[in-house]
This record gives sequence, structure tokens and C-alpha cells, in this order.
Amino acid sequence: ARKFFVGGNYKMNPATKAAADSLVKLLNEAQVKGDVDIVVAPPAIYLLPIRDALKNQHVQVAAQNCYLKDSGAFTGEISPAQLADAGIPYVILGHSERRTLFHESSDFIAQKTRAALDKKLSVILCVGETLAEREAGKTTSVVQAQLEPVVKLVKESEWSKIVIAYEPVWAIGTGKVATSQQAQETHAEVRAWLTKSISSKVGEETRIIYGGSVTGASSRELASQSDVDGFLVGGASLKPEFVDIFNSKA
Ligand code: 13P
Repeated sequence: ARKFFVGGNYKMNPATKAAADSLVKLLNEAQVKGDVDIVVAPPAIYLLPIRDALKNQHVQVAAQNCYLKDSGAFTGEISPAQLADAGIPYVILGHSERRTLFHESSDFIAQKTRAALDKKLSVILCVGETLAEREAGKTTSVVQAQLEPVVKLVKESEWSKIVIAYEPVWAIGTGKVATSQQAQETHAEVRAWLTKSISSKVGEETRIIYGGSVTGASSRELASQSDVDGFLVGGASLKPEFVDIFNSKA
């Protein structure tokens, strides 16, 4: 069975260290009810202070991005080697905001995935279609095209270090959560494609989590779908209802 996985992507939030401390307090006081991996991704400036203040053994941290070289003249970037050296276990790669606002291509994201895996980091790899692509019936082909360059660079055994986050762009930050049927359908298609493109083991064991306007209220039904292995939560991860979301399978 795939272990339930819930990530909190804080994005460029909160705006102050004091507010970040409140998020840690929420996590430290939370009761974790089920068997779940909980991973929060604060902005880089809060990554180590939050990691060091976390007392809840169920909660780990992730970086929101990284570059592909170990070190060098790459102003503004953080390397997988630095994350690994600091003991940061996870990195989010390929978030739609990075693809769109910062022009990251699927090939570049695949190279960064390769670099992160080389440093033994686990990767939360984000994929997803726009509204126009969904309406044109291209959801499957878009998601597969985003995954293909990664499949080329990653060994079969390394897929245990990757969690795929299916995040339809139209659902991110819009309040328009995918229906549980839409999420289940796409997750099942991605899983079938992993089986066909890599192996049945990778298809069966890779966790595919959903992201896009997940709330405490919507999480239970989504979590009950057989191919929804958890969530990547944006806005609601900054609120007390994040606890309901990571307990939604319990
Ligand atoms: P929201 O939950 O705010 O829609 O964001 C989802 C997301 O982008 C998580 O990475």
C-alpha cells in the first residue's frame, strides 16, 4: 500500500518570521491521526529555522525549488548539494508557478530532478494542464509530455524517491477544486502510463498526490479515491484546516 502523503507548499508565505513561528506552533500542537508523511515547504529564508523548531516527528521539510549545479556563479539559486548538506530531505520541482512565471521547461525540470536525485533528495514533481488544455481534451498528453523527460533521466529504482503532484493549473489558487472523479481519472491515467513507460512496480508504488484548492472540507472525498495518495496544499496549508487535510485519510 502507498503511504498517504500531504505536502504544504507555503509558496512566498508567510510575510513575517512571527507568522512562520505560528505555523510551526500549529504543526507542533497538531495530532497526527493516520499513517501519513507530512512535508511542509517554507520559503528558503525560513527553511532551516522552521526545520529546527519543528518538534512533531511526523513532519519534515522541503525546499520549493533548487538549481542543478553543486555550487558556483548562479545568483539567487540554491543547489541540491546545499540542501542535502543541510539535511533537507525533499525538494518541490516543476511547480506550475515556476513553469509559468519563471519559464522553466519540462527538460530543465527533468535535469533538476536528476541533480536532486544524485544528492539523494526526494522530489515532489509537479505536473498539470491549463484550463484551455483540459477543454481541448489534452490533459493526458500534456501531463505525459511533462513526465517524459523525467522518465528518460531517472532509473527505475529511483522512482521510490519521487512523489508526483498532479496540480491542474485551473485549480491552483482559484477555489475551483477538481472533482474527485476528475482527480481519480487523471491519477489513474498517470499510473497506467507509469506502468507502461517504466514498470508495473513503479506504476503500483509511486504516490500520486493532488493539488489545487484543496480544503479541509474537500479533502475527505478526494482522499477516498483509490489513486489519490495525498495532497499538495497551498493556501490551506497556512491555516489550521491543514491539520484536517493531513488527517483526511484517518
Ligand atoms: P492552492 O491550494 O492554494 O490552490 O495551491 C495549490 C498548489 O499550488 C500547491 O503546490
